[in-house]
Amino acid sequence: QTPIERKPNWIRTRAKMGPEFTELKGLVKREGLHTVCEEAGCPNIYECWEDREATFLIGGEQCTRRCDFCQIDTGKPAELDRDEPRRVAESVQAMGLRYSTITGVARDDLPDEGVWLYAETVRQIHALNPNTGVENLIPDFHAKPELLAEVFESRPEVLAHNLETVPRIFKRIRPAFRYERSLDVIRQARDFGLVTKSNLILGMGETPEEVTEAMRDLHDAGCDIITITQYLRPSPRHHPVERWVKPEEFVEHTAAAEEMGFAGVMAGPLVRSSYRAGKLYAKAMAH
Ligand code: SF4
Ligand code: SF4
Repeated sequence: QTPIERKPNWIRTRAKMGPEFTELKGLVKREGLHTVCEEAGCPNIYECWEDREATFLIGGEQCTRRCDFCQIDTGKPAELDRDEPRRVAESVQAMGLRYSTITGVARDDLPDEGVWLYAETVRQIHALNPNTGVENLIPDFHAKPELLAEVFESRPEVLAHNLETVPRIFKRIRPAFRYERSLDVIRQARDFGLVTKSNLILGMGETPEEVTEAMRDLHDAGCDIITITQYLRPSPRHHPVERWVKPEEFVEHTAAAEEMGFAGVMAGPLVRSSYRAGKLYAKAMAH
């Protein structure tokens, strides 16, 4: 491995276990529940769970697309599990969550590209947990208005779609997505009247100036909340880490995003798009 693969010392996790975390941890184990937080070994679990926030993955374990930073397998997905929305809603209830992020794989194998699954999960969480916020982090559904409409009408508190990188390297990093099409998803969600959110992953070959331009494109498309994160390579067959972004640069991006007018900004080496998502949503609403 080249030296760049070594993580710098500012990528360090804080393992502080609070009472809410400890309670959730036991409950999830007892009930056999599945969260991305645990299964992806997310370093932020102590903080998010302490706030009763968690993330769930829907649609199965195989994705029909292949992004160069993503650890989810590409392949032919299993048949759609129509009972999954109910189980996720019950997990949210069992965990007593204040805020839940729902994300999943792209299901280009299905006629509706999985839109029913995403929308139904939001509907069922809301029905069973009227006080829990739902952030729906969706694939692009090819930005087809008739598909997006169903997921918009399920009215998640936040509709998120991640741009992830800048135009110059976009095709290489996200071959099945398009930069403009992803911006269009945000634009359509904003026009529908939803609170919108997106993410940029740094360290995949972009320059700081290109990050600023992508932030501006997102803001122009109507994006309300932005998270900016450091790329961590899931395995040697994934895109290499091109640079470790210094904490100072994240501070500069935060200032630039606030200056541009984003209602909520979270940027840092360990930030993920669902990191303290409920807190960030509340802050953006108070903006
Ligand atoms: Fe991963 Fe989403 Fe890309 Fe599929 S579409 S490979 S789940 S980032
Ligand atoms: Fe879970 Fe996301 Fe928080 Fe990680 S950042 S613990 S995946 S909610």
